[in-house]
Amino acid sequence: TAKGEGRNQIAHFTPEMHEEARLNAVMHQELRGAVKGNQLELHYQPIRNARTGAINHVEALVRWRHPERGLVRPDLFIPLAEKTGMIREIGEWVRQEALTAAARMQTLGLLIPIAVNVSTAEFYDHTLADHIVQQSRESGLPEGTLMVEITESLLIRSQQETRDFLRTLQNAGIRIALDDFGTGYSSLSYLASFPAEKLKIDRSFVMGMRSDERKQALVETIIKLGHSLGMRVVAEGVETEEDQALLISKDCDLIQGYLLSKPLPEQELISFLQRYCADS
Ligand code: C2E
Ligand code: MG
Ligand code: MG
Ligand code: MG
Repeated sequence: TAKGEGRNQIAHFTPEMHEEARLNAVMHQELRGAVKGNQLELHYQPIRNARTGAINHVEALVRWRHPERGLVRPDLFIPLAEKTGMIREIGEWVRQEALTAAARMQTLGLLIPIAVNVSTAEFYDHTLADHIVQQSRESGLPEGTLMVEITESLLIRSQQETRDFLRTLQNAGIRIALDDFGTGYSSLSYLASFPAEKLKIDRSFVMGMRSDERKQALVETIIKLGHSLGMRVVAEGVETEEDQALLISKDCDLIQGYLLSKPLPEQELISFLQRYCADS
């Protein structure tokens, strides 16, 4: 209805937006079938100790193996899944698959802590913490195997709810990492009252820090901040030896990035870990 007040909106509705909206609608339909149709898969990116080089844990990252579009990266469908509420089903699947993969790796003598991303949009479900604890228990894996990555946007929702959520997980031996640090809006007081064990510096600060003194100062400050709150600090997006050396000189604890490895399918991760362990 291009009448009255609607006229303005229509006028701003460009062909590109039309196409985007159409694509979103199509993707929404397709995404519905993706979970049940076995089209989601997890890739795993190893993260190593900056000083010893030992692999510390892996991060599970979801991909959508689309029949026509090929491998779709999460940036293209997670936001849509968050808007439509489908993120809950996806989150549940991701945790289950990550835990199952960890159990398979355990049988190969490659038990390794595994981090999963939990979206703030999943928190509309108040039973989420209990759900995660149950999934973790049923896996039979040792406490400390599962780690949950949350973002700052969660911290600004409801302090009490967030605290309860984190406490429930921590009591069950599930570890907490604060992801994408620096890109959200949380104040330092929030950070101090929700101590996660790991703080992840967003890759937008890490990439290009060598040619940008202000980025470098930020990275250094985040590392100190994390340490002063008793957290270990992870740098994402480490692509070069130079970046890694700089981060080590600034006392960063853990390194994640293409320099070590891209996210790998399970079989490739297994080969990677077997080779890596043999070499070091
Ligand atoms: P994130 O949790 O911050 O994950 C790190 C992202 O940085 C991953 O992108 C990873 O592939 C990328 N990365 C790591 N090292 C490098 C590097 O050296 N260079 C570059 N250019 N990139 C690097 P990915 O896999 O595309 O995931 C993007 C985001 O999608 C994630 O950011 C996370 O917010 C979201 N995501 C991924 N999987 C899930 C999931 O299972 N559930 C939810 N809720 N979100 C997910
Ligand atoms: Mg993450
Ligand atoms: Mg991250
Ligand atoms: Mg990030």
